[in-house]
Amino acid sequence: MATLEVRDVNKNFGGVQALRDVNLSVDAGSVHAIIGPNGAGKSTLLNCMVGRLLPDTGSVMFNGQSLLGLRPHEINQLGVARVFQTPEIFPDLTLVENVIVPALAKRDGAFNFHAWERIDAQKDIMDEAESVLEEVGLIKFKDLSAASLSRGDKRRLELAMCLVQHPKLLLLDEPTAGMSRADTNATIDLLKRIGERGITKIVIEHDMHVVFSLAQKISVMAQGTVIVEGEPTAIKGDPKVQEAYLGG
Ligand code: ADP
Ligand code: MG
Repeated sequence: MATLEVRDVNKNFGGVQALRDVNLSVDAGSVHAIIGPNGAGKSTLLNCMVGRLLPDTGSVMFNGQSLLGLRPHEINQLGVARVFQTPEIFPDLTLVENVIVPALAKRDGAFNFHAWERIDAQKDIMDEAESVLEEVGLIKFKDLSAASLSRGDKRRLELAMCLVQHPKLLLLDEPTAGMSRADTNATIDLLKRIGERGITKIVIEHDMHVVFSLAQKISVMAQGTVIVEGEPTAIKGDPKVQEAYLGG
């Protein structure tokens, strides 16, 4: 059964055809990787899934419901969370506070400053924030400001900010970009553990080691469209894939 279904999506930016008849079907509970050279349209496609961009034509369905025209926070409320290509965290807040903000937004439907003022009295939310930080391996830094984290740890914090919302679908745009090999491997392990909870994941990734460690299905994009889709073993030897990378 498909969780997310993209059909014939097109997106044009003033003459640049960023997406061209894109089709994508993501199975529930699976890890689906999107790969392809720079400029292929991967981030644009993700932006169309989370309501940051509206496709010119086509449809995006999540569990049978159209996402088109919904605002990003409305899509988030449906259970779609996203880790951005550039971490979007609150640098001046502590790690615990960074995780509490999305937890409150999810609980209350929108961020509410009144709830924030009384946060010390809300043990359930504090406990949950700490348990998510424990899960991603950042609990020891919980009272430090997010600005002080390494690049890899900022990405882990962003993942914690998603997990605290109990997403059904998690979108990750280059989750290991800029990470050391050790950090990358730790992230692969973490994403595998999260997978055990049955969260469906879409991962945009350049690191083929990460892609082949995680994905059950791979869509290869080039020049705004999906040129090949299949299981990792089939993708590996596909001449069109080699050509897209060499030609891209
Ligand atoms: P990828 O994530 O695969 O590297 P993008 O989705 O970022 O690719 O970009 C696809 C194409 O669309 C590129 O040619 C890029 O320059 C163009 N593009 C992306 N976003 C915009 C935008 N907001 N305005 C104009 N062109 C854009
Ligand atoms: Mg991108």
